[in-house]
Amino acid sequence: MMKQIGIVVHGGAGTDSEHIKKNIKEYEDGLREAIEEGYKILERGGKAVDAVEAAVRKLEDNPLFNSGRGSAVNNKGEVEMDASIMDGKTLKAGAVCMVKNVKNPVTLARYIMDHTSHVLLSDHGALEFAKDQDLELEPDSYFVTEHQYDLFLEERDKDDVEELMKKRVHGTVGAVAADKDGNVAAATSSGGTTNALAGRIGDSCIIGAGTFANNNTCAISSTGDGEFIINGVIAHSIADVMEYKGYDIQRACDYVIHEKNKNTEGDIGVIGICPSGKIGISFNSERMHRAWKSTDLPLQVKIYK
Ligand code: ASP
Repeated sequence: MMKQIGIVVHGGAGTDSEHIKKNIKEYEDGLREAIEEGYKILERGGKAVDAVEAAVRKLEDNPLFNSGRGSAVNNKGEVEMDASIMDGKTLKAGAVCMVKNVKNPVTLARYIMDHTSHVLLSDHGALEFAKDQDLELEPDSYFVTEHQYDLFLEERDKDDVEELMKKRVHGTVGAVAADKDGNVAAATSSGGTTNALAGRIGDSCIIGAGTFANNNTCAISSTGDGEFIINGVIAHSIADVMEYKGYDIQRACDYVIHEKNKNTEGDIGVIGICPSGKIGISFNSERMHRAWKSTDLPLQVKIYK
């Protein structure tokens, strides 16, 4: 019997900004296009892992989101990107960190998952592998948008680290999906955080923190302050809560964000889906760009609570 299909995407959780308010329609359009891209794969009977990769690629190509083109700029004025993908059926995962010039880091993560025996490749090794696989490359200038560079310049001379942490811009992207065979998958892609020290690696490439998928429970993609997401092992915790406490996906997401991590000082947002197609969304920040569609639910796009 055909199971329910569904997909959820996010475009980052964090504080509101004038830039978001000014571009709200474009953000909503971007989220909608990502859902449509992934959903049409699921509708045709395609795999969850293909749907999440396609949805994330769409968002990576959109300069409004902090991934691929439009990535945050580090304290050297450079873009270093993290991404990961996990297949809930095979429990295989691929991830990449600190990579430059690769147009779609999520596809590089997918290649690592499918064509190597490793999970995570970094920096120049990741770039070399991308070249070997003939993945699309772009010059440095492609990735840096005016908006992200302005943010970098604004923040560059501030020495109040706490203030900087509070103002970090989150526009990381992610997707989770369930296909007709009851398989789930998750993918996440990020340019990291504005003005981070060069070499900083966030949660988006960390399996169990930024991304996790297991057909026994759920698929999760996280966004927010990576340091807190890594320390809280957020994505895997949600799967654990489902497995050990028997909570449904929404309750498990809420429990991990609002109870288990209620004293966190970071912004944390998650999207999740189960093999049954049920979805869960939870965040502790002012806003999380998000959209979803499933057999049961029409396409919906939301930014605020
Ligand atoms: N989680 C990402 C990171 O810390 C940032 C974000 O979600 O916007 O690298």
